[in-house]
Amino acid sequence: MTAGTVPDEVMAKFAGARLWACHQAPYLASAVFALTPALLEPSTDPDTGAWVPDPALAAFPANTAWVVHVDPATVLANPVERTGWWLLHQVGHLVRGHAARSPVRPALGSTGPTHAMGFEGQRDSAAHRWNQAADAEINDDLETEGLTGPDGVVSPRELGLPDNRTAEEYLSLLDVLDDALVRGGTSLSDAVDCGSAADGIERPWDRAGGGGLSELEREMLERSLAAGIQERATARSDVPGGWVRWAEARFRPRIDWRAQVGSLIRKGLAETSGRVDFSYRRPSRRAAAYGDFVTPAMTRPVPETALVLDTSGSVTAPVLERLVGEVTGIIDKVSGPGRRLRVLCCDTKAHPVQEIRKAAELRLVGGGGTDMRAGIEAAMQLRPAPDLVLVMTDGQTPWPERRPPAKVLVCLIGDDGQAPDWAARVRIPADVEEKER
Ligand SMILES: [Zn+2]
Repeated sequence: MTAGTVPDEVMAKFAGARLWACHQAPYLASAVFALTPALLEPSTDPDTGAWVPDPALAAFPANTAWVVHVDPATVLANPVERTGWWLLHQVGHLVRGHAARSPVRPALGSTGPTHAMGFEGQRDSAAHRWNQAADAEINDDLETEGLTGPDGVVSPRELGLPDNRTAEEYLSLLDVLDDALVRGGTSLSDAVDCGSAADGIERPWDRAGGGGLSELEREMLERSLAAGIQERATARSDVPGGWVRWAEARFRPRIDWRAQVGSLIRKGLAETSGRVDFSYRRPSRRAAAYGDFVTPAMTRPVPETALVLDTSGSVTAPVLERLVGEVTGIIDKVSGPGRRLRVLCCDTKAHPVQEIRKAAELRLVGGGGTDMRAGIEAAMQLRPAPDLVLVMTDGQTPWPERRPPAKVLVCLIGDDGQAPDWAARVRIPADVEEKER
């Protein structure tokens, strides 16, 4: 093979895989074609110079801009069906927002993208496990279509787990299962790496491709995909149940935003209280009573929450006050009443932190331009550091490029603003004042 013909052959085979994928799941065709392939440099055998498929790239790892990273040697070694299966699988990670839902955070103090050598060390067992849980959420729908994944990829059916669960549910099921397997002398196989589209943590190759889809393009694509799936479902054309539920949920958020905020906060708090570095922070009272017997699972640390408010003036004060009231009410319900909440008003800069126990204690300050980066950065400087940062904004603001080392929930007021991929988000109607209650 000469240098000129090899990429042609790779791209031809990749195109074949894409067509195969569209044929298998026509309701995902627009999504499959929206994937942008980025060809990576192949690894070569030091003796023969022949291309060697890189196992780290076996899953065609995607990023949240819908770029799939293509190892030419993998494409040539795979049957077309295998590559096509991975494309459908990656679409699953992308449209289900696994990156934003991921409980895995970049290591504290890490700056810049992790380089190739150090990366595997950072992608610890928590990241592997989330990848497997997210895979389980996708793969049962693929199996419904008769599309079985390659060996070593988690399948609920093969593991004896129920179908149609969310990744969050599979996460705890997998933990239980793995405990049982370890006691039996085996363990779950290591997850393949599905890329930052699965967990939101940047990979060394993520910046190689450039391009991909903008936030607006992704939003439009997801909407048309969801509309198409709903149409097919109405026409009783075969679409697996998981996809139908996804399409329904895609259009539902506006209606039920309070429940959604509540569940996202609860989820954020549950995740932070499940963090390993948290559990041993202080001995439980029981541990003290029973001497050295430490029971980390029994300690339920109180997660620290910070609220960043967009007070730039584009969101009116009455709307903000009402929303702060709603959110303090939800937090009271989740973590007990009278919990202090640290609030940062933010326009182009973050104003001094206010500690409030109820919404009426808050003094809104600000006006002028908007830069939520300043507010999020100030929130991360608070001590103790917050586990959960809630940002309330209309979204007309620049965002930090990288996921901060805390769970971030963006409450987007109105229809126009955008939130970054690494954040969980919920849309709140701009006329919340007049319409509600
Ligand atoms: Zn995956």
